[in-house]
Amino acid sequence: MTTRNGSPNDAQSGSPMNPGDEAPAGTPGTGEAVCPRCNGSGTLSSGEACPNCGGTGKIIEGIGGG
Ligand SMILES: [Zn+2]
Repeated sequence: MTTRNGSPNDAQSGSPMNPGDEAPAGTPGTGEAVCPRCNGSGTLSSGEACPNCGGTGKIIEGIGGG
């Protein structure tokens, strides 16, 4: 019997990270912050979706806390 299970690719189920994210959402010590690239609008002045936050207007940022 030939059972092919397929290649075990690591399919990350969940919200994909954006270039502006410092950590995946929900990571302890991080929190949402307004994207500095688009100022939270999710859209650049050129009308394109902000690549830094993926058009969400928010990024995940490490919270400096001591
Ligand atoms: Zn942005």
